[in-house]
Amino acid sequence: MPDLKKRLEEMQASLRLTTDDIELRLSLLLLKDLRAAELSAYLPELDSLHGRFVNELHEHLGQFPQYTEATDPPRQPVGLKEQQLRYCQQMLRGPYNVQYARLRILAGLSSPSARQEQKWSIATYHFYLNFMHRELRALWSDKLELADRIFSNLMKISFFDLTLRVETHSASNRLALEESQTRYDRTIHAANDGFWEWHVDEDRLEVSERWLAMLGLEADKAPKTLQQFCALISDTQRGAFEDLITAHLEGRQPWLDMECQLYGGAGRPLWVLLRGVVSDNLRGERVLAGSLSDITARKVAEQELAHATLHDPLTGLPNRQSMNKQLIQALQRQAKPGARHAAVLFINLDRFKLINDSLGHQAGDQVLVQVAARMGRCLRPGDHLFRFGGDEFVVLLNDMAEAGDAETVAKRIMETLHYPLLAGGQRLSVTASIGLAPLKAQGQEQDALREADLALYRAKASGKSQLALYSDNLQVEVHHRLKLENALSEALRRKQFELYYQPIVKVQNGESSVVGVEALLRWWQDGVLISPDEFIPVLEESGQIVEVGEWVLRQACTQVLEWHADGHEALRCSVNLSSRQLQAPNFAGSVARVLEETGFPATSLVLEITESLLMLDSPDTLATLRELESLGIRIALDDFGTGFSSLGYLHRYPLHIIKVDKSFITKAPDDERLRAISRAIIGLGHGLSMDVIAEGIETLEQMDFLHDEGCHYIQGYWFSRPLSAELIKPVLNQLAGQPASLA
Ligand code: C2E
Ligand code: CA
Ligand code: CA
Repeated sequence: MPDLKKRLEEMQASLRLTTDDIELRLSLLLLKDLRAAELSAYLPELDSLHGRFVNELHEHLGQFPQYTEATDPPRQPVGLKEQQLRYCQQMLRGPYNVQYARLRILAGLSSPSARQEQKWSIATYHFYLNFMHRELRALWSDKLELADRIFSNLMKISFFDLTLRVETHSASNRLALEESQTRYDRTIHAANDGFWEWHVDEDRLEVSERWLAMLGLEADKAPKTLQQFCALISDTQRGAFEDLITAHLEGRQPWLDMECQLYGGAGRPLWVLLRGVVSDNLRGERVLAGSLSDITARKVAEQELAHATLHDPLTGLPNRQSMNKQLIQALQRQAKPGARHAAVLFINLDRFKLINDSLGHQAGDQVLVQVAARMGRCLRPGDHLFRFGGDEFVVLLNDMAEAGDAETVAKRIMETLHYPLLAGGQRLSVTASIGLAPLKAQGQEQDALREADLALYRAKASGKSQLALYSDNLQVEVHHRLKLENALSEALRRKQFELYYQPIVKVQNGESSVVGVEALLRWWQDGVLISPDEFIPVLEESGQIVEVGEWVLRQACTQVLEWHADGHEALRCSVNLSSRQLQAPNFAGSVARVLEETGFPATSLVLEITESLLMLDSPDTLATLRELESLGIRIALDDFGTGFSSLGYLHRYPLHIIKVDKSFITKAPDDERLRAISRAIIGLGHGLSMDVIAEGIETLEQMDFLHDEGCHYIQGYWFSRPLSAELIKPVLNQLAGQPASLA
């Protein structure tokens, strides 16, 4: 109701229905001096006539379906009749003043036909007067004068009402229009849309200010014709827009609705939704009016979403899902006659877990990003690099002249990764293992991937930083490797491991003496001796190396302690460590425990580590090494010279011994360059007050070279091969205190 009251006030204001005006209307219709008393004297008769009137009126109007359908919801005859009866009753009772007028307006407003066309109101009043005239004269056929007087009064009131009703109706429509106009203005403003109108027959285009502003165009750059408008649309979409307009003008499309990119004043295109509909204006000309909405934000979000589902967020590389698509396409290309070679590389970073664990995931992420960028630079346009997941990448090489080109690319990738990179504030060198498989036309997209994965498995198995090609007997090899893994997991329990020992000999002033032994692990599998190069990587991969490594340490300490008691009390014991062991929690603690349990003196223990561990430069490794040093243990840097990182760590880490890799010394006597490098390494070690041990010495020539260079510690077949504890014992005895020349 408050709503109706508000509308009444609005209406009264709109009709300018002041008290004076109403007085005037009443006077004009001679209603002012109407004595309501005259009507009220005949109320029963008149009320009953009204009852009949309402029924007859409905019978009459009911013949017109337009009448019942004209309102929404459709007219309810019963409610309507009651309302009309009430209206008629009021009509008889006056008093005819401002209050009455307000009541009539209100009745008009609440009637469902208030906003409907006036023809129904006029017809109703006409029907009413006709009915009453006939019936009054019939009722009072003997008092026709009374009948006419009453009718005249009803006519005055009816005219008063009818005028009000008609005026209310038009005012109501006007208000509704105003309201919809302001709503329309509000909408346009809020929608932030631009508007355009194309006068079809004159080919004249008009655009709103907002339209221009959205596109960043000055007024003088406003398009004036449809062609100028179309010129702003991106090349790929222009044709479609023109077709759509034609289709709409020809009635084949109910309206225009198209998303496209418009190039305005700014360099970047604007994604817009173009909408429009053609209609005839008052002069009968065709006008295509439309709107322009900026949908850039939504488009960007959509594109980001589409990109996100197909790309890896870290490296920005296409992900596995995109890879499958590309592989399918590549296979289709391969199936065509004359197709050139294609191949898949499966790439896995070596020791990535170690980087993640020791330097943190953030550093790991930095490595992945840089590695991805470097690998990308090794490829040609048309090749694809995908992040498969974790530290695994896949490369799809297309359109190669030779099958062997894939190998070249793989090697280039491995090479580019070797250069040190910065991650987590550290310089480190990353290597990758790669499996390569050709893409065969008759295969499925997963075949090449599986084959490349198998090859990768082989590459990993044969040591890190390897490239392996898929071959049909790889399946057999992989099977073998799996068997190896299974067998190894049982080896410790089955006591299949044995330690061999190789003497480390000090040669000085023509005297040689054994200063230590290096413990080297052997595996007896079904009576066959397996080399550590074959099974240590498998132990490392599976993590078993931690448990096996502790066994080695305990076994070696126990054995060498026996030899101490047997007259070799100064004998040092060298034990190899894998990086996985050093990474294990509280490694130094577990070493201390073994020393305590075996009673082996810490000062006689040497732990050999490799450069790859130091390359990671992790604070944890440094702390562990310091802890070991503080126990009195000496640390040897094994295989020196085969790594790729800087020499900086030589003084940063607690290192006591350098073991020069056999690849240098063994060829040094014949190779000037290697000779220089070996000399430099020996000098470097001595300069840093470290012992330098030359490994892999087999010949007298090599012995002479080392003698000349002042390297006094020697390990190699020249003195002895690694042998079982039982067999090495006599060698130790023999070497002790023997002149070098007699060895
Ligand atoms: P490494 O620590 O560099 O051990 C020296 C390797 O050189 C040994 O191979 C040894 O037999 C070989 N060698 C010694 N003198 C000569 C020589 O004059 N000429 C030639 N050609 N070779 C010589 P091996 O025993 O096959 O061990 C291979 C590698 O396996 C070791 O290299 C070491 O990295 C690893 N390894 C051995 N035992 C263990 C272990 O208990 N734990 C760990 N983590 N690694 C081990
Ligand atoms: Ca070693
Ligand atoms: Ca070595």
